[in-house]
Amino acid sequence: MQAQEDFEGGEGVGGEGLDERRMREAIRAAREAAGRGEVPVGAVVVGDGGDVLAVAGNRTRSDCDPTAHAEIVALREAARRSGNYRLTGAVVYSTIEPCAMCAGALVQARVRRLVYGAPDARAGAVRSVFRICDESSLNHRMELTAGVLEAECRALMQEFFRERRRRRDEE
Ligand code: ZN
Repeated sequence: MQAQEDFEGGEGVGGEGLDERRMREAIRAAREAAGRGEVPVGAVVVGDGGDVLAVAGNRTRSDCDPTAHAEIVALREAARRSGNYRLTGAVVYSTIEPCAMCAGALVQARVRRLVYGAPDARAGAVRSVFRICDESSLNHRMELTAGVLEAECRALMQEFFRERRRRRDEE
């Protein structure tokens, strides 16, 4: 079921591919999260037919929920919408390399592919600190693509933390 992908073709407006366009939706969600005082991470879940099942930003503060990372919020919504806790054909886009909790959830959901923007050298659990998404001792491995709109995704985080430091210094 690649109909929509075929219809849209590989290249979109301005020569951007489908991955870039999906990542832009994740970036938009990350910006909205920043507006709520959340760490600016966004995620998009695309079903195997190419349809967007869920778009979410971080909600840990908004929901007072330590598990409400963008990826978890998006996976929950996508599973509910598709009526299946397994998202076997899904592609997940995340602006930042997922943490250990989120990488574990991606394995649990059996997603087909993960695409992320910028690496997280401190907590990334895909390649940087742990390698949960292609760990041979786990019973599911997914396709991985890193570095999609990496500079923009990284800049969002840098801006956010710079601003937070600046506010702290003022206090
Ligand atoms: Zn996470």
